[in-house]
Amino acid sequence: MVQTVYKLPFRLLGIPIHLDLTFLLALPLLAWLIGTQMDRFAEVLGLGADSESLTQGIRPYLLGLFAAISLFASVLAHELGHSVVGRHFNLRIRSITLWILGGMAQFEMIPRKRGTEAIMAIAGPITSLMVGFTAWLLLHLTPVSFSGTRFVLAYVMHMNIILAIFNLLPALPLDGGRVFRSVLALRIPYLRATQIAAATSKFLALLLGFIGVIFLNLWMILIAFFIYIAVTGESEYATVSTMLKGIEVDDLMTREVVTVSSETRVSDLVQRMFRERHLSFPVLDGASKLVGFVTLQDIRQMKASGRREAETTVGEIMTQDVERIGEHESAFEAFQRIGRSKAGRLVVIDHFGGLIGLISKTDLIRAVQVRTVEGIGGAEEDNW
Ligand SMILES: [Zn+2]
Repeated sequence: MVQTVYKLPFRLLGIPIHLDLTFLLALPLLAWLIGTQMDRFAEVLGLGADSESLTQGIRPYLLGLFAAISLFASVLAHELGHSVVGRHFNLRIRSITLWILGGMAQFEMIPRKRGTEAIMAIAGPITSLMVGFTAWLLLHLTPVSFSGTRFVLAYVMHMNIILAIFNLLPALPLDGGRVFRSVLALRIPYLRATQIAAATSKFLALLLGFIGVIFLNLWMILIAFFIYIAVTGESEYATVSTMLKGIEVDDLMTREVVTVSSETRVSDLVQRMFRERHLSFPVLDGASKLVGFVTLQDIRQMKASGRREAETTVGEIMTQDVERIGEHESAFEAFQRIGRSKAGRLVVIDHFGGLIGLISKTDLIRAVQVRTVEGIGGAEEDNW
């Protein structure tokens, strides 16, 4: 399988930086685009007079590369702006990803405290404006003879201003959309605010896509498409977090868990799977000590490697690394963790690390559905 995300070997302000494959393709493409159209770029940036010295030899391509790198550095600065402010509100940042449409800072969760989201969201465009202003200042301090440096600075200045303005578009999940929702949520329940912001965003996305089609602007169409998809995810996220509010894992988990011992032969496990119509089992060592998880997939892999069912024990083929969650943790935490894990369920443990249940995506979805029908949630947000 092609790896689509590359991690930088260092962290910035303690945050891991991920480079998406689309970013790695966009970078040379952008450098090439600037290189081949250097005179046009110089014209637009108000450096038409330098055109001659900028287009000599491989210079335009080198400058294109510098400009492309500085654009992504600007995007990174924008995301770090969000992150630093987020950290101030005790929100953990998992990583920053750079991809073809810019950057994304992944927070552990979206802040719900009144107004916090707005402050965090506005921090990005403000950072961009500051970078743009710095570039403008440096541009005016750089002697006219340094045409290459001036080109990169002028490019950085323009792109940061565009970045700030574009991100202030009041569409989720862009910064402007977050400010919009957060301000709405000062007066009305968070879920309702999200629904209004989401509807506005979808409208804006359609409008943007429409304009993109008329002007045959692929970039606009792509962004419109991205906003439309992402906003759907945002409103689902808000719905689920509201509906699961106040519920703990042990309210929703399945208690009757069928387990298997690590000593069991795989042939016996296959029989049990057939009999009990159950395809995955937590594996116990002794009475209740959880040591792993075994699924049909593990058996398939074992067969592929040529081992025989009757001569292999469950302990040899199980996955040892099982995602656990405490019984008193919030159901929403479980929802987020399941979303990140491949397994689609978590093992619930008590204080002593003993297995007491399982919680799956289905359990959570069912709870959300029931609460939606009951109309619970959404009304008591004053304390957020
Ligand atoms: Zn932003």
